[in-house]
Amino acid sequence: MAEKKFKTIYDVSCPFCGTLCDDLEVDVADNKVIEVRNACQIGTKKFFSSNPSPHRYQKPLIKVNGKHEEVSWDEAIDKAADILIKAKRPLLYGFSSTECEAQGKGVELAEILGGILDNTASVCHGPTLLAVQDVGVPSSTLGEYKNRADLVIFWGCNPVHAHPRHMGRYSEFVRGYFRRDGRNDRYIAVVDPRFTHTAQIADLYIPIKPNQDYELLNALRALLRGVELDVDEVAGVPIEKAKQVVEAIKNCKFGVIFFGMGVTQSDNHHRNIDAAICLTREANDHTKFLITAMRGHYNVAGANTVFTWNTGYPYSIDFSRGYPRYNPGEFSAVPLLVNDEVDTTLVVASDPASNFPAAAAKNLFKHPLISVECHETPTSAFADVILPAAIAGIEVEGNAYRMDKVPIHLRAVKEAPGDCLSDRDILQKLIEKVREKLGEE
Ligand code: SF4
Repeated sequence: MAEKKFKTIYDVSCPFCGTLCDDLEVDVADNKVIEVRNACQIGTKKFFSSNPSPHRYQKPLIKVNGKHEEVSWDEAIDKAADILIKAKRPLLYGFSSTECEAQGKGVELAEILGGILDNTASVCHGPTLLAVQDVGVPSSTLGEYKNRADLVIFWGCNPVHAHPRHMGRYSEFVRGYFRRDGRNDRYIAVVDPRFTHTAQIADLYIPIKPNQDYELLNALRALLRGVELDVDEVAGVPIEKAKQVVEAIKNCKFGVIFFGMGVTQSDNHHRNIDAAICLTREANDHTKFLITAMRGHYNVAGANTVFTWNTGYPYSIDFSRGYPRYNPGEFSAVPLLVNDEVDTTLVVASDPASNFPAAAAKNLFKHPLISVECHETPTSAFADVILPAAIAGIEVEGNAYRMDKVPIHLRAVKEAPGDCLSDRDILQKLIEKVREKLGEE
């Protein structure tokens, strides 16, 4: 019997959520993942998704008479480049679940095409970025929180489900240099309309009314300044409970607010984050206090960073005038699609059809669609051209930015199947072919 080629790869980073855990151990035999240690269930599942399955793309595909047919890379790239250069207003979207190197290529392609470039921040923490541009942000690394924080407030986020190892590695149970007794050395508060699993293990649960974060944040700011509020409750929270939060803030040695899409995507959007940042800043009159966004996709922070260092802007960028213009809302994927203002879409490592409004998805499918994707998704199933990708962080090395903007190296643990190429190589091929067709060789 042939001997199996077995190897264990250590210090592997998990390319799933913004916690970007970098302590995984992965066993691989005959180019198949057979065991993943240290990851949560979501991360483990992502590594196993790289093994052979009927849903994995292995060859470039072009839609002919409504059916996908296998073609060579040359044919697929030629067809995709034709589609892109014929478009008057192409949208390039996604980029949050791939490595920084591919994100840079995406910027280059969008600029050559005079297209619109957007990443998934426009539907998650875009309001956070707007608020930071308005008022700045007192923030730090997850390592500092682990070592120092004795008050942790989770506001509008549920890490037990969305970032399963965040609390174990950085924010709740972990022992830190100055928090030797781990969970016993920390006071945990959760602000959320729902009694989430994160709330169930907190010391203090603040059940806020939906869409009233702005009111509660500003009430806390007033209480922190010593203002007596002449009301019994704010946002459904009794004043006595709000005072309890303020006392916890004043009396902690080092506090942090982690906030999620429950705050960015509720009424008032970036104004909520503006108020949360101001509360954080003002808490520093009493103690050391910081704030950090719970970023979802493992490299959405990288997408914002790479887009910014190339264009000056983190998302929703329009190159149609030959230089980058920035206007979230006007140049964001969802409103552009809902208003039918783009005539071709290139999607990289994303599945907008699964989470965009139906009106946006309908117009996405109305026009030519190119998908750079590893697996079949509701988006790629309707694509005119499918360019099969190797999975960044499992089959391709690269770099990504954790939610606190710390760059982390992504390791490859196995080879990609079939003819799959890295996202960066696929985009480079598109850049070269588009330039050739435009006579810019
Ligand atoms: Fe991966 Fe996030 Fe789970 Fe860590 S918490 S193993 S980064 S999915």
